[in-house]
Amino acid sequence: MGKPIKGSLPPPSRVYGSALQRVHGPDRPPCEHSGMASAEPARTAHPTAPLPGPDGTVRSRVSRRVGSIAPSATLAVDARAKALKAAGRPVIGFGAGEPDFATPEHIVEAAVAACKEPRFHRYTPAAGLPELREAIAAATQRNSGLACTAADVLVTNGGKQAVYEAMAALLDPGDEVLLPTPYWTTYPETIRLAGGVPVDVVTEESTGYLASVEQFAAHLTPRTKILLFCSPCNPTGAVYPPDQVAEIGRWALEQGLWVVTDEIYEHLVYGDAQHVSMPVVVPELAERCVVVNGVAKTFAMTGWRVGWMIAPRDVVSAATNLHSHSTSNVANVSQAAALAALTGGLDDVVTMRVAFDRRRQLMVSMLREIPGVACPEPHGAFYAYPCVRTLLGRELRGRRPTTSAELATLILDEVEVAVVPGEAFGTDGYLRLSYALADDDLVEGITRIQGLLSELG
Ligand code: PMP
Repeated sequence: MGKPIKGSLPPPSRVYGSALQRVHGPDRPPCEHSGMASAEPARTAHPTAPLPGPDGTVRSRVSRRVGSIAPSATLAVDARAKALKAAGRPVIGFGAGEPDFATPEHIVEAAVAACKEPRFHRYTPAAGLPELREAIAAATQRNSGLACTAADVLVTNGGKQAVYEAMAALLDPGDEVLLPTPYWTTYPETIRLAGGVPVDVVTEESTGYLASVEQFAAHLTPRTKILLFCSPCNPTGAVYPPDQVAEIGRWALEQGLWVVTDEIYEHLVYGDAQHVSMPVVVPELAERCVVVNGVAKTFAMTGWRVGWMIAPRDVVSAATNLHSHSTSNVANVSQAAALAALTGGLDDVVTMRVAFDRRRQLMVSMLREIPGVACPEPHGAFYAYPCVRTLLGRELRGRRPTTSAELATLILDEVEVAVVPGEAFGTDGYLRLSYALADDDLVEGITRIQGLLSELG
């Protein structure tokens, strides 16, 4: 470890952070939940300017560890689109990573009832309400077939905190994490915050964005500790076939790796695609596997902030200690709502899935009509991830976008449609479009993009 920090400045942002900074400007929100933060006035003219410490040496104001976190471009795009909309602009937003449906009524009613229960006005166990942990174990067993009990469950503030706490509980400084890329924008930051090193395993549209064992093996080193797996995948919509899940799981087991598998989109699969849970198809892996999940996507509950991890006892125990010192229990009213969701059946997700499937097909066919755009069929989640590489470097309305970030900015500026550039997910040359929006808006938005891109020189 290291060089003296006295007198030194924080390192420059990483490449993709700075690319996005150019696109979104210095006033973009600092994190995924920062629609509010972006509305606040800046507190200082130069928020990153160093300050002299008590001994006169210069120190950075914000710690290097936290100061180097790249902001999430996904919500930054969404926040920018919403701000334009609030200003009266007819913006269509393909940026959001959340269902456009309201939370089902029976879940909301359970939350209202929970508000009136005095026991929920108090602290409850850090690991989660016992009845919710039971329900999570039962639902997991029912849905994916993974054998687990309440003691294997830690309830978290969304699946996001489960990812963060899993990384914090497993990684020592310098440990490497195999990260199929394009990745969900939060993964590398949680890995770095835990002192780990994300190792991109880059996949392409030609293979439907599926990483093979050979690709993982090519990035294996003595420092590799975790293989991070996400199927259905955000941002690509890729769903790994059961055989490939088993092959990757067996390989991870042979190499002595941990697997963190994010199953938050497990119920959003289309056509013949099937979601299988890695520790179910490779049961021996369960002792070295953390499953991440939550109610956000399945039950249209992104704002309620309830997720969980299912992990071996020592990991649950370590993560619970961390959790107890950082957030204590997840809000009880939200936990009561999640309990109602998990015990209330899956009818509502079936309705949402039908709508998403219809929009998915519409979006993909419209994107494929654009010359030069390659859009593999997404089989899960609610995103399409077209490759736009061949459109870059060409003249369009007096500009010449050379990166997908520049192209996304041009699309927003010229036709008021918000899409997320691939840089946010580790791959330049792509765009992510969420199809969790009304059918009419979807058609209008893609029609505008089609019109704009038809002018390409
Ligand atoms: N995993 C993936 C792959 C996601 O896309 C998201 C949300 N965008 C999450 C986890 C976290 O969801 P939440 O924290 O809202 O439960």
